[in-house]
Amino acid sequence: MAMRWTLAQAQALFDKPFLELMFEAQQVHRQHFDPRQVQVSTLLSIKTGACPEDCKYCPQSARYKTGLEAERLMEVEEVLASARKAKAAGSSRFCMGAAWKNPSDRDMPYLEKMVQGVKALGMETCMTLGTLSDAQAQRLGEAGLDFYNHNLDTSPEFYGNIITTRTYQERLDTLEKVREAGIKVCSGGIVGLGEEVRDRAALLVQLANLPVAPESVPINMLVKVKGTPLAENDDVDPFDFIRTIAVARIMMPTSHVRLSAGREQMSEQTQAMCFMAGANSIFYGCKLLTTPNPEEDKDLLLFRKLGLNPEHTHTDAGDNAQQQALTRQLVNADSARYYNAAP
Ligand code: SF4
Repeated sequence: MAMRWTLAQAQALFDKPFLELMFEAQQVHRQHFDPRQVQVSTLLSIKTGACPEDCKYCPQSARYKTGLEAERLMEVEEVLASARKAKAAGSSRFCMGAAWKNPSDRDMPYLEKMVQGVKALGMETCMTLGTLSDAQAQRLGEAGLDFYNHNLDTSPEFYGNIITTRTYQERLDTLEKVREAGIKVCSGGIVGLGEEVRDRAALLVQLANLPVAPESVPINMLVKVKGTPLAENDDVDPFDFIRTIAVARIMMPTSHVRLSAGREQMSEQTQAMCFMAGANSIFYGCKLLTTPNPEEDKDLLLFRKLGLNPEHTHTDAGDNAQQQALTRQLVNADSARYYNAAP
């Protein structure tokens, strides 16, 4: 049976001297993963804005004036065209996000077609659609959905300061339904909401102590969007962010820990330290939902500088097309760098 973590144990990890924590995280990481492999996902917003929820960090909430233009659910063909581009760019997982409290049953046939279509391209599929009913989770599972993303965001104690329209328990219930439907779980949180270190520890305890830890754990740095209530929050010290990644790696040794939103604001050195701390998944592409993601070339260059490779998934085993596409781009990006630097 998986180890159950206590809050005191998690806090003790956060309290470790930084370099000791990094060393431990890297050791745990190497026991379970090839440290040069990073899983690469692309995220597409299939329905943007006008969300009835009040998540205080989110520009997609209808309650905040952020200038974001709301869009209806995309057509299936448009989604598949984006997935083809993501695959050609070397992405192995395609994540589709909709700003909803929950999907309506009317939308389910379209969502099922999206899952089936993206899978037929040989990519892993992930969706994030809000709260699910048992029947909806089952339908997505039967359509072949590989992952469902639903973040816990923060500790149960701090949660009420950030969201009031959906309870923590509702989130846990959705995660349970997803599991029961045979879909893998992607769930993590955000650093920089105004929470204490204790809350970060408590969030990781919640995730690590689920009956099965999430296969994918996104750790986001708050992207402060003008017009949202958290726009003026204090910056998070990058070391505190890296610490959170390291503790997540130690507490969930076999999960993919994803360096997610907020990467745009991070230096290459901070990102490198995140990989050192055990992050082994990123979003790659021009859009991370509606917040900007580093341009693709910057990612490719960083991979090259650090000697990292995109990870294969079961869906592309025996077919090196994706790896070759990304490797080709890495080589091209690298020659461009030297070309530009030439006297
Ligand atoms: S985080 Fe999701 S649920 Fe919350 S307001 Fe944004 S889109 Fe809606």
